[in-house]
Amino acid sequence: MNRREMLKSVGGAALGATLFTGAAGAKPDGHIVPGGPWLTENEPRKVEAFHDYEELVAALDRLQRSSEREFAVESVGTSNQGRDIHLARVGSGDADVMFVTQQHGNEPHGTEAALSMLQYLASGSTSVDDLLEEVTVNVVPRVNPDGSEPELFQRYNVDPDAPARDTSEGFFTSPDAGVGWDVNRYHWPDWTESDLYQNRPDEYPENPVPEAQAVVDAVAEVDPLWVVDVHNQGTYVTDDGEMITTSMFWPIAEGVPTDAQNLSKQLVRHAYDHVSKFGYAEATQYPGGTYPGIARNSYGLQGYGSVLVEIRGGVGQKSNGKLTRLALEIMTSVVDGTADGSVFEVDPDGAEEIPERGDYYYRDLPPE
Ligand SMILES: [Zn+2]
Repeated sequence: MNRREMLKSVGGAALGATLFTGAAGAKPDGHIVPGGPWLTENEPRKVEAFHDYEELVAALDRLQRSSEREFAVESVGTSNQGRDIHLARVGSGDADVMFVTQQHGNEPHGTEAALSMLQYLASGSTSVDDLLEEVTVNVVPRVNPDGSEPELFQRYNVDPDAPARDTSEGFFTSPDAGVGWDVNRYHWPDWTESDLYQNRPDEYPENPVPEAQAVVDAVAEVDPLWVVDVHNQGTYVTDDGEMITTSMFWPIAEGVPTDAQNLSKQLVRHAYDHVSKFGYAEATQYPGGTYPGIARNSYGLQGYGSVLVEIRGGVGQKSNGKLTRLALEIMTSVVDGTADGSVFEVDPDGAEEIPERGDYYYRDLPPE
């Protein structure tokens, strides 16, 4: 694939405007301040640059109509507020691969990157034809359309019936009642195994988070080789004070089949080696846990390759072009590596050698 050509679609102007990052410095207390860019004091956070729901639907529709290749969009579920959750599918290769983005409404860069990737796969040069003979690329761009709307732009989905957070009961919700659920805790292929069902089977006989259930069902339908789930995290620094722009991780829940875990590690290491070529990318492992309801662990437990990708975020309009481009580089590298087979040559143990994420400087976004 001609990646340079694909990257044109990210928007050269925006990228050029965001390449000027300040140099790292130290506060008087010795705390290292990574280079940024940052919102300045009193600068409003803007999210208008991201596709809102109507714009996302229009973009998918346009892609479907103009695509020079097999391109299908279907609804795989409906949000609490009645918005369709879309699955876009391009290509005809035997190996299905799958991306999931924006489970958390305020984590937008994966969706923007997904649209750029789909644009290129739909209409890019003839080299894409070879790629799409090997793989079929499936994308659920924006799992959480309600929480992603600009006037909310919140982590949780929208559910007035959601209770306040109490993780011991299985309520991975907002601290306040009536806000919504954390979509990335409800990927249970068998709902009766969930904490919530175990604790409250009469109140929650079924998964109360339709956005998560839509992904569970879509993965079962597609039966992909792997699932890559794209998020945003806060700003972290390495021991040297370098700003970490992405962290990635594989499934570690007890019982993940070795094959699935190894493929996940191969994907992480492949993406790490790819983005490490770029000066703007500082990649680390993500310090993820073992909770089986998280997408990364759930799909690993089900035998799929499964990767969490976190991109620096929580900085509003700052660095949009660069952060979207980084997400796009990671996403296209794992598609490329799957199509040409190079992912399968990677030593899975190499993933363990990726540096661990350092301290947070600015933890604006909660965990995966
Ligand atoms: Zn997230």
